[in-house]
Amino acid sequence: MPSRLLLNLAQRLFPGEPERNAFLQSLETPAPERRAVIWTGSPDPTWRSAHTTPPPPELSDWPWPRWLDIVTPGVRPGQDDLHEAGAFYSLDVSSIWAASPLWIIETPPSPRVLDVCAAPGGKSIFASRALAPGLLLSNEVIGKRLGILRHNLARCGIPHAFTQRLDPADLGAQLPEAFDVVLVDAPCSGQSLLTKGIDNPGCFHTTVVQHNSRRQRRILAEAARTVTPGGHLLYTTCTFSPEENEKVIGWFLQRTPEFRAIEVPHLAPWRSRLRDDPAYRLFPHQGLGAGGFACLLRREGSGPASTGIAPEVLGYPVERNRPDSH
Ligand code: SAM
Repeated sequence: MPSRLLLNLAQRLFPGEPERNAFLQSLETPAPERRAVIWTGSPDPTWRSAHTTPPPPELSDWPWPRWLDIVTPGVRPGQDDLHEAGAFYSLDVSSIWAASPLWIIETPPSPRVLDVCAAPGGKSIFASRALAPGLLLSNEVIGKRLGILRHNLARCGIPHAFTQRLDPADLGAQLPEAFDVVLVDAPCSGQSLLTKGIDNPGCFHTTVVQHNSRRQRRILAEAARTVTPGGHLLYTTCTFSPEENEKVIGWFLQRTPEFRAIEVPHLAPWRSRLRDDPAYRLFPHQGLGAGGFACLLRREGSGPASTGIAPEVLGYPVERNRPDSH
């Protein structure tokens, strides 16, 4: 039986019973994983023809880049030699869905990109391929996770990448208006982990959700300070509670009127019912992975980011440092 808290959440998300039941079912019966790979250089044609598959019909009219492939069900790309060699980075299809608004952003050449919550590195690597940044600053506050992040960025040879370990408040204070694109893939209650068969006790509990919601508001508000006028801020989570998604955005837009949420045309089928302005939700019963939330925000004005960045704030270049020397 789903818990009272989960039933309450499902009722708030889905007015209709059939979809509500499909959602509840998907949390109880994990579906097989849907994986994708981001090629870090030219795709390997042999591997590609043996292990990848055309995008599912729901994604077939997306602006699909050559550096991204959907993996054939059952293939485990993380165990392949090409993975170890850094030829690709493997991630859940719903992470691709969440990062895909980066495709529609128009940036100046060689934009500056900040990933505030970066480990283990999937969104940073996606941003590197989608935006070709002249500078990518991948930040992670937890030391152990910073090591994994550095390892992944180094393994994949991500160019122009630096890592840092600053609290978002320090990023906001030390790097005002310094970035054209900022990603906040926020720490969350992780309710979508259940759909992967991973136990996550307490993830629907009000205390857990409220704790995450407060932290997300703080991170988003600080991250916003680093966005240059005319720049973009992408907010994503992998959880379902409105308090961690639409309500965070609502709170943010009310106190930061220079930002507005913008349409992402290829995500139109996933438009959230819980806000009038654009925000998007993927649910596990829709068959594209664990699910998540995405909202693309734009700051009014025009860029590019021109504020200088002091070398000591920039952190550590990825190519020259070994992960354990941070
Ligand atoms: N973007 C990553 C990717 O695509 O691989 C996943 C990020 S994960 C959803 C959220 C990250 O936020 C975790 O690495 C976590 O350590 C970090 N985090 C936790 N508390 C934080 C805080 N107070 N401020 C910023 N980041 C935090």
